[in-house]
Amino acid sequence: MKLIHLIILLSVGYHTTILSQDSLKIVNKNITFGHATAQNRKIDAVIIHSTFNNSGGDFYDIDLVIKQFAQYNVSAHYVIGRDGTIYRLVEEKDLSYHAGKSSLPDGRTNVNSCSIGIEIMTSYTESPTEQQIKSLAALIKTIKQRHSIKYILRHSDIAPIRKTDPWNTDWESLKKLW
Ligand SMILES: [Zn+2]
Repeated sequence: MKLIHLIILLSVGYHTTILSQDSLKIVNKNITFGHATAQNRKIDAVIIHSTFNNSGGDFYDIDLVIKQFAQYNVSAHYVIGRDGTIYRLVEEKDLSYHAGKSSLPDGRTNVNSCSIGIEIMTSYTESPTEQQIKSLAALIKTIKQRHSIKYILRHSDIAPIRKTDPWNTDWESLKKLW
């Protein structure tokens, strides 16, 4: 019995260390467009995208990215900056317009209504940074604690004809992180 207790203590200690390494740095950037207030929506999917500011200026300026979203009345719940900062644009309980015309593997087509959208800032040619990947994995782990998640998919998985994002990502390796 004593040995069992020791093993339990050790495993708890280990787990705590991992969690503190994953501590999230979230910056709120509340937006007024690209989303709808919702009550009691059931979230069971996470959709991963990539985006950058291609309207001139810094590719990875969060305010320019948000300005671009405003032009198209789209958004995401979270945008992850190159340094790993997680920007929250829309509360998880609310519905963000990030998926567009798309469908989940089980046939549901109103993907925005049941999902959380996460954008990684990358250009068409650059891969996510190490910090972005760390933040993405940590964020998804906390989302899985808050919601019963059935699918974690790429935008290109749910809209294969229209979408190719997230770009330059090694999906098979990424999937192992959450
Ligand atoms: Zn996308």
